[in-house]
Amino acid sequence: MRILVTGGAGFLGSHLCDRLIRDGHEVVCLDNFFTGRKQNIAHLLGVPGFELVRHDVIDPFKFEVDQIYNLACPASPPHYQYNPIKTIKTSVMGAINCLGLAKRVKARIMQASTSEVYGDPQVHPQPETYWGNVNPIGKRSCYDEGKRCAETLFFDYHRENRVDIRVIRIFNTYGPRMHEADGRVVSNFIVQALRGEDITIYGDGSQTRSFCFVDDLIEGFIRIMAQSETVGPVNLGNPGEFTMMQLAELTLKLVGGKSKIVHKALPSDDPKQRRPDITIARKVLQWEPKVPLEEGLKRTIEYFRGVV
Ligand code: NAD
Ligand code: UDP
Repeated sequence: MRILVTGGAGFLGSHLCDRLIRDGHEVVCLDNFFTGRKQNIAHLLGVPGFELVRHDVIDPFKFEVDQIYNLACPASPPHYQYNPIKTIKTSVMGAINCLGLAKRVKARIMQASTSEVYGDPQVHPQPETYWGNVNPIGKRSCYDEGKRCAETLFFDYHRENRVDIRVIRIFNTYGPRMHEADGRVVSNFIVQALRGEDITIYGDGSQTRSFCFVDDLIEGFIRIMAQSETVGPVNLGNPGEFTMMQLAELTLKLVGGKSKIVHKALPSDDPKQRRPDITIARKVLQWEPKVPLEEGLKRTIEYFRGVV
C-alpha cells in the first residue's frame, strides 16, 4: 500500500514509518519539523518507497494513498503550550484536511488521539465509554480540546460521508527518539540522571501515569488499521501504573550517578491519575503491551547515552 503518515518525522511517526517500510509499503512522510527532526528519518531517505514532504497540515494537501495515519501535533506540554492557537489549528484543521483527503481518495484513516481527552479523570482506570473531565479554558485545553474536536470530526465524517476511520487514544508512550529537550517526564528524568543534574518532580510526585514502550504502541497502530470490527475509539497503553516518585527512583537506579530528587511547582490541571482500561484492545485487536517499564527504560537510557 501507499501510506501517508502526518507527523512522520516525530518520535512516534518515525517509528511508524520504519515499521511500514519494513512491512513493504510505500510511505509519504509529511511534517513541518516543529518538534520532529530530519535525523529521526535520515536512515529512510534514499530508501525506495520512502518520500519526505515538508508541509503543514493546516494547509490543504493531496496525495494518492490507500491509508492515512494522522499524527501531526506537538505532544509534550511545553511544546503544545508554546503556541496554543497553532496547536488547536493543527488538531482541528489538520483533521479536516486529512479527512477531506481520505474522503476523496477513499483511504482508511487513523487519528492519533490521546488519554488527555479524559482530562483529570474521575473514573479510574479509564474505559473508552468515559466522557472525561476536561477544563475547556486552561493551559492544557488547546491540546485536550483540539484532540476532542478532532475525534468529533472523525466520527462526523464517518457518519455523514462514510469515511473509513479508526480512532485510538494513546496513553503516555516513551522510547528512543524522544527529543532530549521535549519536556516529557521520561526523557526529562533520563537526561537529568545522565547529566548528573537534579531530577525535577513536579508537585509531591504522587500523581500517576502508565507508560507504554514505543514498539508495543506501533504494533497496536498496525492492528487497529488491519481489522474492521471496530472504528474505535480504542485505548492503547500499558496498564502498569506508577507514581512520578517511583519513576524517578527507578530511573536513578538504572542510570546510577549522583542526581538528587528536587520538587518543583505542579503545572495547572496536571491529571492526578491515569491508567488505561485496555479490555477492548485485548479483545478486538488481541493486543497488549509486552515490554515492562524497567526493560523499556533500559532501552531508552541506552539511546540517550548516545545523544546527551
Ligand atoms: P512529536 O512531537 O515527536 O511528533 C509530532 C510530529 O508532528 C512532529 O514531527 C512535528 O514536527 C509534527 N507536527 C506538529 N505540528 C505539525 C503541523 N502543523 N503540520 C505538520 N506536522 C506537524 O510527538 P509524538 O509523541 O510522536 O506524538 C505523535 C502523535 O501522537 C501526536 O498527535 C500526539 O498528540 C499523539 N500522542 C502521543 C502520545 C505519547 O505519549 N507520545 C500520547 C498521546 C497522543
Ligand atoms: N513531570 C515531572 N517532572 C518533569 C516532567 C513532568 O514530575 O520533569 C510530571 C508531570 O507533572 C506529570 C507527569 O510527570 O504529572 C507526566 O508528564 P508528561 O509531561 O510526561 O505527560 P502528561 O502530563 O501529558 O501525561
